[in-house]
Amino acid sequence: MSAKAEMFSLLSGPVLPLKPIPFNRPSVMGNEFEYMSKAVEEMHISGDGGYTRACHRKLQTLIGAPKVLLTTSCTAALEMSALLLDLQPGDEVILPSFTFVSTVNAFALRGVTPVFADIRPDTLNLDERILPRLVTERTRVIVPVHYAGVACEMDAILKIASENGIAVVEDNAHGLFGTYKGRNLGTFGCLATQSFHETKNLTCGEGGALVINDLQYADRAEILREKGTNRAAFFRGAVDKYTWVDIGSSYLPSDILAAYLLGQLEEAERIQRERRRIWEGYWRGLASWAVSAGVRLPVIPGHCLQPYHMFYLLMPTAELRDGMLAHLKERGIHSVFHYVPLHLSPQGRKFGGREGDCPVTEDISARLLRLPFFNQLGSEDQERVVEAVIEFEG
Ligand SMILES: *Cc1c(COP(=O)(O)O)cnc(C)c1O
Repeated sequence: MSAKAEMFSLLSGPVLPLKPIPFNRPSVMGNEFEYMSKAVEEMHISGDGGYTRACHRKLQTLIGAPKVLLTTSCTAALEMSALLLDLQPGDEVILPSFTFVSTVNAFALRGVTPVFADIRPDTLNLDERILPRLVTERTRVIVPVHYAGVACEMDAILKIASENGIAVVEDNAHGLFGTYKGRNLGTFGCLATQSFHETKNLTCGEGGALVINDLQYADRAEILREKGTNRAAFFRGAVDKYTWVDIGSSYLPSDILAAYLLGQLEEAERIQRERRRIWEGYWRGLASWAVSAGVRLPVIPGHCLQPYHMFYLLMPTAELRDGMLAHLKERGIHSVFHYVPLHLSPQGRKFGGREGDCPVTEDISARLLRLPFFNQLGSEDQERVVEAVIEFEG
């Protein structure tokens, strides 16, 4: 580590010329604290209290979905999806190799065999053009992940899914408020999953939601989420006692977390405005440099609205990516790479993953880096990031 980098790795003090710029920093945007203390005062801090119900209503309206259930994470919502679809060992799920581990774990836990798809070089989304080669008799689910909240080619994906009787579950962890041809992401699959992890646009620390677009899954989703009991129906007065009726687990978050999330949901418009400012600031600052440096910036097709989840650079080579990461780190700027290909991970290899299976994923994953991106990234700090990027000599 250089002397400069060492200095930045220490806690910031008055001697430091520049304070470190983190990759992510969670922010309190509105009534989060007030709602959390109210939840505590009202003595309802377990799941499914008033704040959870308020989040359900708000999310249903924002997404335009008939039913939304808060979960402890997007991971939990993905696990619920795999349970709801009654998947069996030997079934196959098609998903991109370029995604977070939870996308695949939820299905692998049920004994389902993952089939890793490569991505499109432009949007870095599951390449719908190779789906016909991957679909088999045993394919039960396709999981499009809307990378950076930019939509997958849903027309083509839904077509091949419906022609083959395959379910679609959207991993919409990045895509809240994104649209495809004017329609909200999260409304295309029979089920979709959202994340409110600290790194996402809206957060409650750890949290998520299951979006239920096909209401045939609604009753069972409530049961799975409540340890396999009909507790939710009991509290609605729909049944006169509550008991164990199915398998299940505990997927509901504390109402304290829902209270935090409601504070964020109420400020969604402002949060999205801030994120748009940041995204456009990077674009303005870096677009002409990128052309001369042979660096590719995010591609947003005309028929997609993006929710400004992240800003990434695709460097010309893996060496330049690693060089840029180190260069920024020396200047106290924390940028990160994203998604080591799942098919080449130790667990992915146990499912037969080999070098060359997903050439675009392998290439992109080595060249991508994400710049600091959070609601309260100020213009001065952003300018420092932009200047540091442009200074890089390679
Ligand atoms: C963040 C993320 C998840 C997991 O979200 P958690 O809420 O942390 O479980 C899943 N898929 C994708 C694509 C993600 O980015």
